[in-house]
Amino acid sequence: MKVSGSSYQVRAYNIRHRHEASEFLEAYRRLLQKAVDEIWAGIRWIEKHDRKGRRRLIPIIPKDNNFKHSLRNILLEGWSYSKHYVDSTIKQAYSMLKSWRRSYIKGERRREKPVVRKRFVRIKETLYTYKDGKIKVSIKPHEEYLVFDISKAWFLSRARGELGELILNEKYLTVTFRFKREREIRGKIAWDCNEKSLDGFSPNTGWIRIDLTKLFHIHRVYELKRRRLQQKASKKPSLRKVLAKYSKREKDRAKDFIHKLTTFIARSLKGYTHGFEYLSKNRMLNSSKKHNRNISKSDWKTIITLISYKSKVVLLNPKNSTKGCSRCGMVNAPKGASYVCEKCGLRVDRQLNAAINLYLQMEGLPPTPRLFKELMMGWSGFTLTGEEADEGSNELKRSPKLMNPKSHVSPFKTT
Ligand SMILES: [Zn+2]
Repeated sequence: MKVSGSSYQVRAYNIRHRHEASEFLEAYRRLLQKAVDEIWAGIRWIEKHDRKGRRRLIPIIPKDNNFKHSLRNILLEGWSYSKHYVDSTIKQAYSMLKSWRRSYIKGERRREKPVVRKRFVRIKETLYTYKDGKIKVSIKPHEEYLVFDISKAWFLSRARGELGELILNEKYLTVTFRFKREREIRGKIAWDCNEKSLDGFSPNTGWIRIDLTKLFHIHRVYELKRRRLQQKASKKPSLRKVLAKYSKREKDRAKDFIHKLTTFIARSLKGYTHGFEYLSKNRMLNSSKKHNRNISKSDWKTIITLISYKSKVVLLNPKNSTKGCSRCGMVNAPKGASYVCEKCGLRVDRQLNAAINLYLQMEGLPPTPRLFKELMMGWSGFTLTGEEADEGSNELKRSPKLMNPKSHVSPFKTT
């Protein structure tokens, strides 16, 4: 899940290659470091005072054309590969320094020159040709090329759009495809809410787990503070005010977190309809164990309310979402983190099972093994090694997909 303002979506696939590219990669790495060095040397530092009155040095990165022109000339000295690579290193060096500057200003990084450690080259569309299933990358003009045969790559049948930038490293070539984002496509996604995570499922996205430990900790911290004070408060009425202050602060911080969370979800899943369990009367009255699996009632309500301002929301019936098998419909009594079905043998993460059940409810479909297989097929994606993930759903007991989310998101930092 990537939040992006552009109307293009990019998908990347890796293929393993057998070229001996280390010399070129090392030359590029050194060139990039040289670009960083030169820009770094050109930085002007001005003194400013921050909010706490401390003196700080703020970097002004040189950007004028004269500087860039002479930078290009310096980098071209002794560079025997295509000149285009010099231009990519300049761009890359600037983006490295800009990102360093942002973190430095926030106080997250020191006043230290960034070091290029990884060896990889970004290859722009202008630096390669694609014909008859072969990508030909120009290294030295009219002299040296690297040819990658992707005609048999598994992803060709699946990839949409046009070829974009390539990324080359020692072992892999990453091929990207750019395609226009279709706004009209709308999907459905169902969410299972838990104390420490929000687990979403749709056949398009697969299983997404959003980390809620921050929210959990906010409550935990105040719970401990309150507990410490409560005993004293019965004797000392003045402490009640402190308790009330804590409560308000806790609420504000939780709400702030949920606000950011829901904005993130709405943006990342634009056009989706979001399904949530409604809070049944039973469940609200029943504050026993059954309720413990849920995040607090008020958090849940806030999540649903805030998402409904930003996206379309439907409310779902919580009946058997946790107990029912999302493959065969059998009602089991799950224990612990995984759900095991006594009838069909499905072994699946408990939250994923609930999210699939809720998704099926959104579509108005009863669970069947065939449907389950279809739902699992859609998001098999690709592995980092470029091989297609082998996720036969006959392997219900060993499928890692059923126990690990496809994306695990910690959307932001809050304090
Ligand atoms: Zn089953």
